Amino acid sequence: MTTLKLYNTKTRSKEDFAPIDANDVRMYVCGPTVYDRAHLGNARPVLVFDVLYRVLRHVYGADHVTYVRNFTDVDDRINETAQKRKAAGEPGTLEELIRARSDETIVWYHADMDALGALRPSINGEVSPKAEPRATEYIDQMIAMISDLIDKGHAYAAEGHVLFAVDSWKEGYGKLSGRSVDDMIAGARVEVAPYKRNPMDFVLWKPSTDDLPGWSSPWGRGRPGWHIECSAMAHDLLGETFDIHGGGIDLQFPHHENEIAQSTCAGHGFAKVWMHNEMLQVEGKKMSKSLGNFFTVRDLLDQGVPGEVIRFVMLSTHYRKPMDWTEKKREEAEKTLRKWAMLVNDRPAVTRASNFPEPVVDSVAEDYLKDDLNTHAVLQRMNELYKEAQSVTNAGNLALAKLFHTLTELLGIDLESFWETQRPRTIDDVVLDAKLNVVLNEGLYAKKIQRLIDERIAAKRAKQWELADRIREDLANAGVSLTDTADGPVYEISPDFDASKLEALK
Ligand code: AMP
Ligand code: ZN
Repeated sequence: MTTLKLYNTKTRSKEDFAPIDANDVRMYVCGPTVYDRAHLGNARPVLVFDVLYRVLRHVYGADHVTYVRNFTDVDDRINETAQKRKAAGEPGTLEELIRARSDETIVWYHADMDALGALRPSINGEVSPKAEPRATEYIDQMIAMISDLIDKGHAYAAEGHVLFAVDSWKEGYGKLSGRSVDDMIAGARVEVAPYKRNPMDFVLWKPSTDDLPGWSSPWGRGRPGWHIECSAMAHDLLGETFDIHGGGIDLQFPHHENEIAQSTCAGHGFAKVWMHNEMLQVEGKKMSKSLGNFFTVRDLLDQGVPGEVIRFVMLSTHYRKPMDWTEKKREEAEKTLRKWAMLVNDRPAVTRASNFPEPVVDSVAEDYLKDDLNTHAVLQRMNELYKEAQSVTNAGNLALAKLFHTLTELLGIDLESFWETQRPRTIDDVVLDAKLNVVLNEGLYAKKIQRLIDERIAAKRAKQWELADRIREDLANAGVSLTDTADGPVYEISPDFDASKLEALK
């Protein structure tokens, strides 16, 4: 069997991957800061490392891979939203409103990444919140690690801050990004502060003002720096050493450089292989709000771009190359997926996982995948297989469909779910969706509808006819029609049910 090869940013070379423990292959990927919806660029590392995760599970077995991806929930932008909500009169303490903002962002993140077919992180194949640690739940471990770094002479406390002393590890600092401390000082926008011994020294702990969240520590009430969060969480969940550490190339310096410095100086072996995806652009330009080309994953999904199309476009560029999201690529991806989906969906029996006790893998495609995740070549290979399928007998066609099944699973492209998005929708589908929506929201909508109906009954009793009529109209506007019967009002969800309109009702 071909050996998996991965490009290690640390050694700047493609290496044969040899796990520390083949029974427990461990990977850490820097996750999102949960202050708002994920933008399209944020989806790139998720999809790249999702494919790697799938390949590792394929090679070592699903129960022998651990994948941890954190949520950064200590952040000024989260605090700002919470402060604004508090000022607008929302009930709850600032801490509760901060937690609520992170919680809602995490729910969105899961929904969006699920729609792209990304598997949830897991510990030995078991999906659990532990595999997606929140920084705020690891403050004790961060404080312990910072204390240890001070004891070992790699960090110092000054004016309520604790800083990592880069001069205490001159031999190692800068190796990942390939720069010396002096180069970095010359090139970087470093924050010069009177309490820093060296301008490159970075924050491990900083004081919090009274209006911001803070935790008590030996250095006063404060909060951790961003870099120590990942070092502490990775150590707690993956141990002294682990196999792979991933993230976007924008994190290579300073975030990953600083993670390495902290963890190595604390005496941990830390990650063996460092992997970085290149950045995503839109129509050749950096995605930015000022250029008007900034959009979230949800924006695309809401416009009707299927998650599988987004994934296909992302995987058609090698992860170490900058990738360009273009309308043309989106259209082409959709066309290709439609062809492929027809091939497999003509024969529903062959698309069902239960029919594949022994997955059949195309060795050519598998080799591409194991060559530092050459997903671009795998997609091309699948196109070749598709063409072959067109020219062979039905039996051969079935065999190819089987190959497709395994490859789409390895790439995480769900052709069945894509096919669903392509089917012409009937009015029955829409009604079903609306009803499903109600059920899926665990009765949330049903509860709200019932509350509004009760309010209307109360309004009628109080002879507030205008209010009663307005409630009926509001509900009708959201697609909920009321009929008064002898047994009281009953409601029906109509095909044009609009959950957002219902949600907007007071
Ligand atoms: P953040 O929430 O900004 O910390 O980013 C979460 C992840 O998205 C990190 O791994 C970043 O490197 C990655 N990322 C952010 N912007 C882009 C982009 N334009 N292209 C690719 N990856 C990105
Ligand atoms: Zn990180």
